[in-house]
Amino acid sequence: MKAAVVTKDKKVSVEEKQLRPLKHGEALVQTEFCGVCHTDLHVKNADFGDVTGVVLGHEGIGKVIEVAEGVTSLKVGDRVSIAWMFESCGHCEYCTTGRETLCRDVKNAGYTVDGAMAEQVIVTADYAVKVPDNLDPAAASSVTCAGVTTYKAVKESHIRPGQWIGVFGVGGLGNLAVQYAKNVFGAKVVAFDINDEKLAFAKELGADVVVNSLNEDPIAKAKELTDGKGLDATVITAVAKTPFNQAIDVVKAGARVVAVGLPVDKMDLDIPRLVLDGIQVVGSLVGTRQDLQEAFQFAAEGKVVPKVALRKIEEINEIFEEMEQGKITGRMVIDFTK
Ligand SMILES: [Zn+2]
Ligand SMILES: [Zn+2]
Repeated sequence: MKAAVVTKDKKVSVEEKQLRPLKHGEALVQTEFCGVCHTDLHVKNADFGDVTGVVLGHEGIGKVIEVAEGVTSLKVGDRVSIAWMFESCGHCEYCTTGRETLCRDVKNAGYTVDGAMAEQVIVTADYAVKVPDNLDPAAASSVTCAGVTTYKAVKESHIRPGQWIGVFGVGGLGNLAVQYAKNVFGAKVVAFDINDEKLAFAKELGADVVVNSLNEDPIAKAKELTDGKGLDATVITAVAKTPFNQAIDVVKAGARVVAVGLPVDKMDLDIPRLVLDGIQVVGSLVGTRQDLQEAFQFAAEGKVVPKVALRKIEEINEIFEEMEQGKITGRMVIDFTK
């Protein structure tokens, strides 16, 4: 079978690969679609360490074609996901308290284990989340990482219906955060970015207000929208330091600021502001299997529609180049169905 394998020179080669036989508790999945994530770019570039030889991909969707002994959660024909959180230990303090993404022994698809940018992939059956029948599988691939990550982040913000949430950065992640915040949590959404095209897209997706932070002061705008109080919560998907600082400056006392974007930098945190205004700053990493199930369900109900474009596996290096040049809006998805 064909697979996208990381090479020593930080490229990806599409090559024939032989899979090992299934072990107890595993299932074999015939891949239909796999999204290309910014994290894949980091993995291939060895930013998280050298992973030469690993098969990329953690936004996989496919159908189960074989199950090994001991599998009770899946059957042949089920459509499932292959996500970044590929498997966790199942018995540590995080795994037993609904925080399995923080498991110290977690395995990640397309990084520490072979991922879904391949015609077939072996999964640990209990960790492959089922995809609702009425959800388009190409759209589902995008929910598997970008969708669940932003759904979880908005959930972590503790936003309530009718409140104001600010989304900083409305690219591939942010445009889904806007949709979950608006259509699932019933919040009023203000989108902040420095790219007018992305802001126009956020507006189309339902953002109540969009702000280009280069032309308009985010703090003044937040105050204006909320009678001088500030926003009820913010979610940051941006990958620069400035929006991280702004996301704290625009919220009201007692608000939550949820960090999702991952610039390698430090943010300025004004201690009196943190203490006197009781601001809570939290990090949020992908989502649990339960979060993914919920994120899928809302997408299946049409509340969230990921923007995807289908590509061939042979185009993978080109896709990464486009990504590095910032040319991609929405999600590039490798189509394995043809
Ligand atoms: Zn991802
Ligand atoms: Zn664990």
